[in-house]
Amino acid sequence: MHPAWRARIERALAERRAKSLYRERRVLDSPQGARVVIEGREYLNFSSNDYLGLAADPRVIEAMNEAARLYGAGSGAAHLVSGHLRIHHELEERLAEFLGRERALLFSSGYMANLGIGAALLKRGDAVFEDRLNHASLIDAGLASGARFARYRHNDGVDLAARLANAEEAMRLVMTDGVFSMDGDLAPLNEIAAIAERHEACLVVDDAHGIGVLGENGRGTLEHFAVIDRVPVLMGTLGKALGSFGAFVAGEGALIELLINEARTYVYTTALPPAAAAAAIAALEIVEREPERRAGLRAKVKLFQDGLRALGLPVPESITPIQPIVLGSAEAALAAAHRLREAGMLVPAIRPPTVPPGTARLRVSLSAAHGEEDIARLLEALSRLGLGESRNMRQSAR
Ligand SMILES: *Cc1c(COP(=O)(O)O)cnc(C)c1O
Repeated sequence: MHPAWRARIERALAERRAKSLYRERRVLDSPQGARVVIEGREYLNFSSNDYLGLAADPRVIEAMNEAARLYGAGSGAAHLVSGHLRIHHELEERLAEFLGRERALLFSSGYMANLGIGAALLKRGDAVFEDRLNHASLIDAGLASGARFARYRHNDGVDLAARLANAEEAMRLVMTDGVFSMDGDLAPLNEIAAIAERHEACLVVDDAHGIGVLGENGRGTLEHFAVIDRVPVLMGTLGKALGSFGAFVAGEGALIELLINEARTYVYTTALPPAAAAAAIAALEIVEREPERRAGLRAKVKLFQDGLRALGLPVPESITPIQPIVLGSAEAALAAAHRLREAGMLVPAIRPPTVPPGTARLRVSLSAAHGEEDIARLLEALSRLGLGESRNMRQSAR
């Protein structure tokens, strides 16, 4: 590599280190789950999106094995070439039915699905409005689209409505997370849908963290707010509560046809492995048949929040398994995560730019696979961090 490039790379890394923003991976020697093994030590895991404990469910694994035997390891081509296998098609039909939509379309990841929506729906001369705290993939989708890009204040319908009212563009797209991934709070979809309708805008909801978790039947944030018919474009992922890999967009037939034809991240990429599709089908069946998993998860969330309250710590404004403990500086979040790790618990420190500066946090992710004693151990470890003594925390405690 040319020395100028090497110097640039090393400078970037040094800057990250200096700001406590250096990111590192840890190697797991076990399946994802409530307990994971790293370097021979078992940890209680509060850092995964496997909310229903399906990533290592024996039925899901068996479905993968069987699909690999029937369809092979890889799909071998893009969907439009020859990679659209029967098992993909079946999953799309199941998803459409589960979500009460005309059709669903698989993408290889949520990131790609969002980029695909932006590329297919938006043109130069349009406008896209996004919640400030949207997931990076939605933000990137808007920025890359060529449309005028505007952010509105987090969950602020008044701000969104004003921006839509002042927009000169005829075609406007509103994009929001259903569940915000770093705070766990919900977008007020009834309000946002009404505003979008009133201003003749199209609404896109990314429900990566809601699918399988929220709503009576696990259909997600749209079911929670009873707005299934009022969100024309629903995106969800298969890699979180569904324990597999991949993503989908669900909506009316013409929308899906447009995506098939014009979403570049659909057209120019290999179809996901057939085993991943089979795993998602098996997981969907479990989501439908075992509502007790969702109930168990809700009970864990309540237990955790009751515990926080008892410790005098701020209780997150979140009914979802995402339970952030905002500490402020990146150093404080890193130090707290480090101490929890020493106590045998994995809780990630989430730092800027993933969250706004000054709001670095521990992000606790709960799972139906956690036992009550696991939550108790976490609370006990948190109590020993002495968080309640810091001035910031006292001020934000409710
Ligand atoms: C995880 C996530 C994505 C990306 O999905 P992948 O399938 O992991 O690429 C998109 N949006 C939100 C809100 C997410 O949390």
